[in-house]
Amino acid sequence: MNLLLPETTGEALALLARHADAIPVAGGTDLLVHWPTKGRDHDRTYVDLSRLSELKGLRWTDDELVLGGLATYWDVITDQRAALELPLLVRAARQVGSVQIQARGTWAGNIVNASPAADGVPVLMAYDAVVVLESRRGREEVPLADFYTGYKEMRRAADQLVVAIRVPRRRHAAQLFAKIGPRRAQAIAKIGLAVTRSAAGGGWRIVAASMAPTIRRCPALERRLADGPAPRAPEDLLPAIEQDVTPIDDIRSTAEYRKRVMARVLFYALPDLQT
Ligand SMILES: Cc1cc2nc3c(=O)[nH]c(=O)nc-3n(C[C@H](O)[C@H](O)[C@H](O)COP(=O)(O)OP(=O)(O)OC[C@H]3O[C@@H](n4cnc5c(N)ncnc54)[C@H](O)[C@@H]3O)c2cc1C
Repeated sequence: MNLLLPETTGEALALLARHADAIPVAGGTDLLVHWPTKGRDHDRTYVDLSRLSELKGLRWTDDELVLGGLATYWDVITDQRAALELPLLVRAARQVGSVQIQARGTWAGNIVNASPAADGVPVLMAYDAVVVLESRRGREEVPLADFYTGYKEMRRAADQLVVAIRVPRRRHAAQLFAKIGPRRAQAIAKIGLAVTRSAAGGGWRIVAASMAPTIRRCPALERRLADGPAPRAPEDLLPAIEQDVTPIDDIRSTAEYRKRVMARVLFYALPDLQT
């Protein structure tokens, strides 16, 4: 294993530019899961980001919360303002793995790992987060809702680091995070749902996890709630759900269960979301 240990972001970006196949390592909680069985990965080059102090933690500006490229779930869980202003971040963070994973795992790692079942990505997407990428070629900002282009494919080049995630500060009239899984901790979502509604953001954001090859917004469902007649039963939401997502049968659940439970979770939350 070739492990490179840059001291600064500049050094890390130079290493990524020089080693085209190098892999950044943040908390390592995704990268190391399959390590024992992925012998072919052992000889690759890794860039350990852990010494890049400028990427650690989070900060608030007048307009946004800026999560550093190494901000962990624990950084958010322990931030009192996050609980007040962007509570879905805290709710999702508390449901990631266990305390040990929350302490090591980063929001940027969750984004780049690109699991369709991730818990951090849906809430960030429902808050209109923007991914800030940097390489020796310059800086680029991509809305998280446009970041994924296919299963495990994204608008990030190999030499780019996620150096920050910008989350707008808005007043939300409604917010929901729901993770449906076999248990509360150490579980992979069968269905994930993040919902926000804000006047400043232009209305509804409905984001589904474990329902398609990528986590994605649900524009048909958003239009249905904004402009359609009030649904009278969960099944009234199914046509829009079927336009937005393409769940599969797998070891955790079936496509039919996923669609029906998503409809029920959303339908029964509507009285709270629409007040
Ligand atoms: C026991 C266990 C339970 C878990 N439970 C959950 C759960 O409930 N919900 C959930 O969503 N996830 C869960 N995970 C997955 C994982 O913890 C999260 O996805 C975590 O956020 C990954 O962050 P990391 O810093 O550890 O990423 P790493 O493993 O270091 O990296 C993940 C990927 O992101 C890339 N990367 C990391 N940082 C950057 C950066 N700044 N710029 C560019 N690329 C970068 C890496 O190259 C790699 O491809 C679990 C993992 C374990 C081991």
